[in-house]
Amino acid sequence: ERGRLARLRHTPALTLDGQKIELLANIELPEDASAALLAGSVGVGLFRSEFLFMGRRGQLPGEEEQYLAYRKAVEGMQGLPVTIRTIDVGADKPLDDSRRDAAHLNPALGLRAIRWSLAEPQMFLTQLRAILRAAAHGKVRLLVPMLAHASEIRQTLSLIDFARAELDNRGVASGRVEVGAMIEIPAAALILPTFLKYFDFLSIGTNDLIQYTLAIDRADESVAHLYDPLHPAVLRLVADTIAAGTAAGKHVSVCGEMAGDVAFTRLLLGLGLRSFSMHPAQVLAVKQEVLRADTTRLAAWARQVVEAEDPSAVFTA
Ligand code: PEP
Ligand code: MG
Repeated sequence: ERGRLARLRHTPALTLDGQKIELLANIELPEDASAALLAGSVGVGLFRSEFLFMGRRGQLPGEEEQYLAYRKAVEGMQGLPVTIRTIDVGADKPLDDSRRDAAHLNPALGLRAIRWSLAEPQMFLTQLRAILRAAAHGKVRLLVPMLAHASEIRQTLSLIDFARAELDNRGVASGRVEVGAMIEIPAAALILPTFLKYFDFLSIGTNDLIQYTLAIDRADESVAHLYDPLHPAVLRLVADTIAAGTAAGKHVSVCGEMAGDVAFTRLLLGLGLRSFSMHPAQVLAVKQEVLRADTTRLAAWARQVVEAEDPSAVFTA
């Protein structure tokens, strides 16, 4: 099976009805770019930058160290786009830094991701400058995790402008970036017009979207049986985000585990998704599903699945 899949590496990801599907890789370190390329992905849809920050006692990486790491990922992808997500620490990804990791009552609902970045603006500006500098070396998209409030969006965008102004004042080169938001909190999926007004693209984080929609801690084994990607509420939020983003002419991707699970490829295609980002090891298997799919036939079925009382029954029928 592996050998057969490997032959698909250079095959364009086209559906039977000729739809071009973008298959991207999720990476955690710059070195993973080679695995992303080998897997036949056409870019990085999610670079989880927090892995540069985790497990370091004391000092967090400074601007120069981060710039070199992001640049390495960008150059490693040889001209293909790299989506760098700003730091998403907290909850299931604790920083090894006792001062910031003081035991929180409920880390998944606490000071994580963009909330942490906005609470630590100097750290955030350092990261933003490093990303903007790396963007001078290739195609970079900047992705912001865990946004829910319009005020957070405006604060984030003004910090990006500020970081660029700081570089300009220092006479340091920076590159253009598209700026996008993760849709991974139900509140975000329910105010899509606000997100579409401010952002160039959206990326749906199904891991957290499922967790927060169903009130299931994604790391808690005792409720793992209730963590259901096919819950109608989850599917509706995913379907609405794809539809609204596409109607607004914005790029929409899914970068949660759902995108790399071949069981869901046809459903997501049927809902109109044209960009998937996943662990490099999944790219060829998902491509094989894409090559067998006819989106003109899948759309009506996908609608039925989303509207069902028990989607898993329709899904497997
Ligand atoms: C997600 O929440 O689906 C996601 C891609 O981000 P992470 O798994 O890093 O929280
Ligand atoms: Mg997430």
